[in-house]
Order: sequence, then structure tokens, then C-alpha cells
Amino acid sequence: MNRYEAYLPVLQSALRALDDWRTQYGEEQLVGFTDTPDMIQIIQDLQKRLEGNYPFHHPQYAGQMLKPPHPLAWIAYAMAMTINPNNHALDGGPPTSEMEKEAVAKLAEMVGYDNPYLGHLTSGGTIANLEALFVAREIHPQKAIAASTKAHYTHRRMCRVLNTEFMEIPLKSNGETDWDYLMDNLDRVGTVVVTMGTTGLGDVEPLADLLPELRKNGVRVHADAAYGGFFKIIEKELPSSAHWAKLGEVDSIVIDPHKHGLQPYGCGSIMFKDPAAGTYFKHDSPYTYFTSDELHLGEISLECSRAGASAAAFWATLQLFPLTNDGLGKYLKSTVTAAKILYRNLTGSARFECFKEPELDILVYFPIPENKTLSAVSELSNHLFKAGAEAAPKEGLHLSLYKLGADEFTARFSEYEADADSVTLLRSVLMKPEHEPFATKLTNRLHTLLDSV
Ligand SMILES: *Cc1c(COP(=O)(O)O)cnc(C)c1O
Repeated sequence: MNRYEAYLPVLQSALRALDDWRTQYGEEQLVGFTDTPDMIQIIQDLQKRLEGNYPFHHPQYAGQMLKPPHPLAWIAYAMAMTINPNNHALDGGPPTSEMEKEAVAKLAEMVGYDNPYLGHLTSGGTIANLEALFVAREIHPQKAIAASTKAHYTHRRMCRVLNTEFMEIPLKSNGETDWDYLMDNLDRVGTVVVTMGTTGLGDVEPLADLLPELRKNGVRVHADAAYGGFFKIIEKELPSSAHWAKLGEVDSIVIDPHKHGLQPYGCGSIMFKDPAAGTYFKHDSPYTYFTSDELHLGEISLECSRAGASAAAFWATLQLFPLTNDGLGKYLKSTVTAAKILYRNLTGSARFECFKEPELDILVYFPIPENKTLSAVSELSNHLFKAGAEAAPKEGLHLSLYKLGADEFTARFSEYEADADSVTLLRSVLMKPEHEPFATKLTNRLHTLLDSV
């Protein structure tokens, strides 16, 4: 039996019960549900098309931030979708709006926000960050929004959308972020984006070190924890624990349940520590709903329609995996362990080098070429990347590539000749619980594939 079949009987009986609820409104003939032979053929065609994917479900897929959701999220989403509630307003989906509030309350508790706060789910991290930057601009319209070069690329883009100045905090010659540059230019800055778990390397930026000076100068702080947010649960086991401990003090936080929260795509979240942020969203549209005195989720969001099914899926998942060490924490711990094992294996190998020790579950590494130049590293990395993707299904390895500036690389590896402006390395996001038991096999496959290129 495959990983979904076991749950089909319970899904079937729940759907049947939902149909009973539906038919109490009358047995009117529903239109459009009769062409089943065509539908069956289309679904079979779709299945074939879907087999064109990389094996995102398998630990040999150790590339980007991709994995299927937990089966419980799938079932909850599928069930809710047969009703298709819209969480843009409480009346668009009363039960799923309640679930959204309950789920976000758990996120708020996890990060250390006290009631009252303001928060809701979004369709993803980019739109959630846009909301945070929108509020940042409304509060400090004349000032810049600053972020490091390691921040997600969409911050710069969204500053263009908002027509507000973006200040990139440059790198020092040793390849590290020049936070002193930020401190020297604070008079120009309204809000700083601090990334808790960068998309490239999974680095946690030094929130605890930055916060006192930023506060003293009246600068707001937005934590982009789209990727890393759930690692707050296991903060005590991380080298970055001091920074996680300060998360509850920042003005706004973005966390993506569709990254480390076991959810299907379409589930991000934004929280504001001060609920007064809601005043910037207030609107009075005549065609929205007015039956509730409570603040509608749609009144504190830039988006209008949002899938109630997303809230149902996340809510259900949180019942099974509470945001505790023994709940979702177990998953997260195993991903960190997987990265540690691969790091240990590769630093112990004469044929590979790790760019740096992983902080979370992302490792960047490269095969050591005979010729110690950047172009030779890039060439070998590219060959290995391609060989892994093209190998037979049981021997393959699906990695991602990571491009780095020459200075940043040679700051750590001075023995390499910088014969190019940049260098391409290999990157693995080890975000599945299956990665921990697979980590040594992964190491072995890397070596076998390197033999073949
Ligand atoms: C993934 C990511 C984003 C963008 O989120 P989406 O859900 O892909 O829109 C923003 N910031 C960070 C740090 C991320 O890892």
C-alpha cells in the first residue's frame, strides 16, 4: 500500500458525511458531474504528465526547498476544497476562518508574541513579506528598507513595487555581512529585514546583536523567517539560539508553513507584534461582508480571496504535530542531523569540501578539482549536478547549484585562484525526515557520481 492509500477509507467516509450535510439543503441536480469517462481519461493523462517531475518525495532529491506535504494536510485540503471556503472574510468560510485564527495563534505563541498581535495566513512568503514592507513604508515613508545581500531577492523587488528605497547591506572583504555599514547609515533606515534562515545557506542573521542598536535609533525590525521560522521550536539545540531567543521582540515576522510546516504550496503567514498595523489595511468596500463585528481577516490583508482549505490543512497538521520539541520539533531535529552527517562525511573526504558548517539543514559543498581555480570548481560542480540528475532512478541524486561571488569564496579558500568573477557550488536542502537515514548513502552516491564525470 502506498503512503496515501491507507487514508483513503477515512477520506471516503468523511466525504460521504459531508455529502449528507450538503443534501440536507435539498437534492437539486448538480450540473457538470456526469462526464466521468472523460474525467477518468484526463486523470490518467495527468498522472503520466506528473511523472515528468523530479523525485521530490525521495531523499535522493536533495536540491531545492521542495517536498510533498504530509498526507494529513493533503486529506484536510482535499476535504475542505469540496466546499471551497474563502478566508477573505469570516463569512466566506466561518469554520476555516476560525481554524486560521487558531493556527496563527499557535504560530504567535511559538515566536513569543503576546496577545494582542495581528496575523493571518497568506498565499506565500513573498506576499507576506510584501505586507510587512508595506507597513514598514507606511510608518517610515521617507526612509529606506535595509537587508543584507543574503536576504531573499524579492525584498528588493517589492521595494520597487512599493516605490521605496532599498538599501543593500554590503559584504566585507571576508565575505561576511558588513553590519557596521548598516549601523553607520541608520539615519536613512526605517526598517531592517533580518533573515532567520537565509534561502541560500540557511544562515541565521545575528538578531540579538543588532536589536539593541536598532531599537536605540528607532529603527523597526522585520524578521524574514519564511524558511527558518519553525526552527524556533528547537532553538536550544541550535548554535544560533541567542538570536532565536529575541524573535518575539521584532515588529513583524514571516513564516512559511509551505516550507517547513508540512503544507502544500499556498501557505505563508505574517504576524505583527503591534495590532495597530491593521489600520494601514482598513478598507470599506461595499461588496464585502458586514455581518460580523470582529475584524475580518480580509481587512488586515493585502490579498482578497484566500483558500480556506489552506487554513484547514495547516490547522489539521498542527493537531497531529504541535509546535513542540516532541511534535514538529522531531522533524526539524532530524533535518539538522542530516545536514550534520553530510557535513561530517564530506569534510572527512579527500574529494569534497564544504563551504561552511551548516546552521540549519542546508549544506553548500563542492568537489575538489585537480586544478585549484574557480572555473575548475564550477565546471566539476556542474558536471556532478548533471550526472546526478541524468543517472538511473535508483542511482540518481538531485542537487541544486549555488553561485557565489569570487571574493566570498576566496575569503574562505585562499588557495584557489580567482580566474572568474563567481563560482558555482553544490547545494542540498536536507528538509525531509528521510534525509537523516539517507545521508551516508547520499555521500556514497556523490563519490560514485564524481568517479563517472
Ligand atoms: C522562500 C523564501 C521567501 C519567499 O517565499 P515564497 O513562499 O516562496 O513566496 C522569502 N524569504 C525567504 C528567506 C525564503 O526562504
